[in-house]
Amino acid sequence: MSVVNAEGKGNAVSGLSGLSGLSVAELEELMVRDGLARTHGLRLFKAVHQVPHDLGESRGMLPPPVQRWLDGPGGLGVAVVEEVRETESGDGWTRKYLLRMGDGQEVESVLMGFPGRFTACLSTQVGCAMGCVFCATGQMGLVRNLEAGEIVAQALHVARRCRELHGERLRNLVVMGMGEPLHNAEATLKALEVLTDTRGLGIGPAHVTLSTVGHVPGIRRVARHPLRFRLAVSLHAATDEERSELVPVNRRWPLREVLEACEEYSELKGERVFMAWTLIAGKNDSEEQARQLAALLAGRAVQVNLIPLNPTEGFAGGAPTDERVEAFQRVLLEAGLPVTRRQRRGIDVGAGCGQLRSERRVGR
Ligand code: SAH
Ligand code: SF4
Repeated sequence: MSVVNAEGKGNAVSGLSGLSGLSVAELEELMVRDGLARTHGLRLFKAVHQVPHDLGESRGMLPPPVQRWLDGPGGLGVAVVEEVRETESGDGWTRKYLLRMGDGQEVESVLMGFPGRFTACLSTQVGCAMGCVFCATGQMGLVRNLEAGEIVAQALHVARRCRELHGERLRNLVVMGMGEPLHNAEATLKALEVLTDTRGLGIGPAHVTLSTVGHVPGIRRVARHPLRFRLAVSLHAATDEERSELVPVNRRWPLREVLEACEEYSELKGERVFMAWTLIAGKNDSEEQARQLAALLAGRAVQVNLIPLNPTEGFAGGAPTDERVEAFQRVLLEAGLPVTRRQRRGIDVGAGCGQLRSERRVGR
C-alpha cells in the first residue's frame, strides 16, 4: 500500500515494513487519511516503539478507534521480524539473533555489551553487493535491501531482549551487521531517524555508528544529514592496489575520494571518522603497511580501529598473532594517531564483525 506523507509524496510502505518504519508525522497523516484524530498517530508510535511490550501485547491500551483501525483493511501489521534462533556466546555478553522477515528472508542482529553499555548491531540488507573477500555477508552476494521498518524492528527486538535479559535500556546502535548501509541509504537513514526519536526508543544520534565500505555519495549524504551520526569507514589497506584486492568497490570509489568525503563529514559535523582496519595475517599487518597508513591519515580527524580477522568459511586468511597486532598498533601510536583494538566478542557463535549471514536463502 502507499501512504501519502506531509509533502504529498507517495511513500512506499509495503506489508513487509509495517508500522515500525513510519515516523510520527507519517502515522498522523495515516490517521487523518482514515478519518481518525491526528493525535492517535503519536499514541500509535509510542505503542509500536515501547519496551518491553510489543504492539501485540499492548494494543488493548490503545483507544478503541485505533484498535479497530489496526484490525481493519487500512491497518498495517507490525510483525516484521520473528526470532528463529538466539545464540549465546560463551562469555555470556553477546547474543546473536536470526530473524525472519515477512517474505521468509532472514538476517542476523547482535546484542552485545556489558552493564551500562548495551549495543545492538543491525543489518541493512540480506547479503551484500560489495564483495569484500573476507566477509561472510559479502560471500553471499546481495539478495535484497531491507525496508526501514525491518531495520527498526531489529532494534526493537534486541532492545526488548536487552530489557528481559539484563534489565537495561539499549543505548547504542552500530550499523555493522549484514549489508552496506549506504547502498541502502534511504531505508537506513529513515530507520535511524525513527530510532533516535525521543518519543520512541530514543537512542542518541551520537550513540549511533554507521559503518561503510567507503560509499562516497553515501558518506556525503550522511555529512549533510541533520542528525549527527558517527561514521566508520572500512579501510583495510593504504594503497589503491592493495585495497582493490580486498575491497573490490575501491575501483569505483578509490581511497582519495573516500578520504575527501570523510573530510567533508568531519568539517560539517565536527567529528572524527573511525577508520576500521581488519588485520589479516601476511596481507595487511606489516609495520611497513602501518607506516603507509600513518602517512595516509596524517593530519586528518580520524581514529583507527583495529579488528583482527574473524574466520569465515569462504576466505582462507587468518588473524595475526597478538604480537603482530601490537607492533602494528605501536607504529600508528608513535605517529600520533589514536588507535583502539576492537574486542573480539561473540566470534565463538559467529557474531563477530563480518561473520553474519543468513542460513536460508529464499526466492533469490
Ligand atoms: N558494510 C559495512 C558494514 C558491515 S561490515 C562495512 O563494510 O563497513 C562491518 C565491519 O566488519 C567492517 O569494518 C568490515 O570490514 C568488517 N569485517 C568484515 N568481515 C570481517 C571479518 N571476517 N573479520 C573481521 N572484520 C570483518
Ligand atoms: Fe558488504 Fe561490509 Fe561485508 Fe564488505 S565488509 S561485503 S561492504 S558487509
